[in-house]
Amino acid sequence: MFDPNLTRQLEGVETPFYYYDLDLLKRTLETVKAAAEKRNFHIHYAYKANYNERILHWINAYGFGADCVSGNEVKKAIEIGVHPDKIAFAGVGKTDKEIRYALQQEIFSFNVESPEELLVIGELAVQEQRTARIALRINPNVDAQTHHYITTGLDENKFGIMPGDLPECIAVAKANPYLELHGIHFHIGSQILEMNVFKSLCIKVNEWNRWFEEHGIYLRTLNVGGGLGVDYKQPDEFPLPDFDAYFSVFEQFLEKRPNQEVHFEIGRAIVAQCGTLISKALYIKKGIKKHFVILDAGMTELMRPALYQAYHAIENISAKTGAVQLHYDIVGPICESSDSFGKEVLLPEVHRGDLLAIRTAGAYGEVMSSRYNLRDEIRHYFKETD
Ligand SMILES: *Cc1c(COP(=O)(O)O)cnc(C)c1O
Repeated sequence: MFDPNLTRQLEGVETPFYYYDLDLLKRTLETVKAAAEKRNFHIHYAYKANYNERILHWINAYGFGADCVSGNEVKKAIEIGVHPDKIAFAGVGKTDKEIRYALQQEIFSFNVESPEELLVIGELAVQEQRTARIALRINPNVDAQTHHYITTGLDENKFGIMPGDLPECIAVAKANPYLELHGIHFHIGSQILEMNVFKSLCIKVNEWNRWFEEHGIYLRTLNVGGGLGVDYKQPDEFPLPDFDAYFSVFEQFLEKRPNQEVHFEIGRAIVAQCGTLISKALYIKKGIKKHFVILDAGMTELMRPALYQAYHAIENISAKTGAVQLHYDIVGPICESSDSFGKEVLLPEVHRGDLLAIRTAGAYGEVMSSRYNLRDEIRHYFKETD
């Protein structure tokens, strides 16, 4: 539940806006850091989950590296002050311009997704006279048991190198002195809550680790990607994901060699719970079968429900105590039927002007906002007490 004092503070502010609790972000960062350091694991924060500068500032301050999926994200990481040897660059469609820029910055790793991309990076590295450190992203065919739009590690997905193409990749890397193959990379999907999925991933990584050894290649890094989920249903009860349980799966099941480093790329689990979308009820429409609350925020501000039927907890933070509870469909103002945040949501009676909090919106929220319908640029505010 939202603090009533906070509601009073927010009441005068123009809506909609993202509200970030930086105190919670810092608590989360402390928790991940402690859990990772205990096991000597290396963490790269996935910039695409949220690249708000104040958030990035703190993530960098806690010493995490950057996992980037575009040249601009690499540039942003450099600007924030992340050391290039802690920047990884992933993505199925890196352009020549992006590759050149990342080579010039001498980043830690290109996570390569196809034999052709490896050839291109090799050619550009020769032209730039810079070494390209390479991790091969392997598609391990593990089912992440999550929404099919955020599953990435199955044979039918566009991501990663098909195992049959690996010998060709090794040959390309060996033939070019500007390519330095240092590791293998996996990322099987997002919002994964079933720890057995990560155990299955470990088993696949072990197989590939052995396979490379048998082919005479010593790998320095095993990058197991990200994907740890958060509790969208109970953000107050479980504001911190169970990083210890997550890391201990890899500690237990990953057969790393003595000098190998284990890398993670965590996005959602770090930033999701610290963000809330605050929106105002514009109108209450009493239908024949349903009541609708029409908000001043829509899929343009938070696309996850429209894009992958994502669930977000919704609260009426202006409700008076003891108000009757009613069921509402909570919708936005955008001219699309998918512009809905929730159906049959039980809330204390909503009146025009009430503020509604859409919780757990810190990851893949503001970064996916658009100006469709020529909407205002999205605003944001921060809570930071220490
Ligand atoms: C998106 C992405 C991540 C982060 O995923 P989360 O589910 O937010 O932890 C990590 N690695 C790669 C390659 C990605 O594309």
